[in-house]
Amino acid sequence: MNVFQKHKEILDYINKTNKSIGLVPTMGSLHLGHISLIEKALIENEIVIVSIFVNPTQFDNKIDLKKYPRNIESDIEKIKKLDEKIIIYTPTIQDIYNDNLNVKNFDFGFIGKELEGHYRKNHFNSVATIVEKLFNFFNPNRAYFGEKDYQQILVIKSLIIKSNLNVEIISCPIIRGSDGLALSSRNNLLSKKERKIAPIIYKTLLDVKTIIKPLQIETLISKIHKKFKLIPLLKLEYLEIREALSLKPVKKIHKDKKYRAFIAVIVGKIRLIDNIELSLI
Ligand code: AMP
Repeated sequence: MNVFQKHKEILDYINKTNKSIGLVPTMGSLHLGHISLIEKALIENEIVIVSIFVNPTQFDNKIDLKKYPRNIESDIEKIKKLDEKIIIYTPTIQDIYNDNLNVKNFDFGFIGKELEGHYRKNHFNSVATIVEKLFNFFNPNRAYFGEKDYQQILVIKSLIIKSNLNVEIISCPIIRGSDGLALSSRNNLLSKKERKIAPIIYKTLLDVKTIIKPLQIETLISKIHKKFKLIPLLKLEYLEIREALSLKPVKKIHKDKKYRAFIAVIVGKIRLIDNIELSLI
């Protein structure tokens, strides 16, 4: 069985080979989004480690942490079906943090403070703390992250530079359900009614992508805010158009630059995020 709770056991198991290592960090409740990352890691590396750890420090409140879906047995089954050789790391809090749940204070500058960084204080410090620990434990050649958490990828790339780590960050496209809703473990927490209405999030991003024109951004966004106010189950937390790499706010878009629209919506009590690449058509 390749399931370990202690990172040192994995190091013994791997036994310092020169084989390439791909790491896929997850919080479990695996869906096809996670699976796409693992499949890519399998193609590109000789050894694949999937970590499953609901990181307590990156939750804003205790109820959210308590409610976060956990399905460790079925996760292990799903991973094994992909490839029996995948190493699964299901650590205890102790193995990651020892006895103190300390979060390191990084400064990711503008990239860390905006959007999710603004609405979820200390979130990226917590994410970077755990990701840095995982990188230091396993020294992977590559690590796989989904564009579903696009800003997180920018933060991790900045972490690599700041902490002088030698890991290649591989970004993987967002996997969606047939109705367009980005797959997320949190979707499991939606009621039937909420799940039915949630695809509006992606439809909104598609609308932005189709109708965006220079000089129309502010009008477009305020129209969308007004539209959301009419839908009782949904609360639009933010919808922003930003430069894709710097995350700088955008007033006018230019043909030769890359942009993305970012959205966070509270559906009932569940907070969902999504994003989309934009181009001037
Ligand atoms: P999580 O378990 O939510 O922390 O996600 C673990 C990794 O899977 C992160 O890099 C996410 O960005 C990625 N991921 C989550 N949902 C999706 C999705 N729908 N498509 C692609 N990647 C995803």
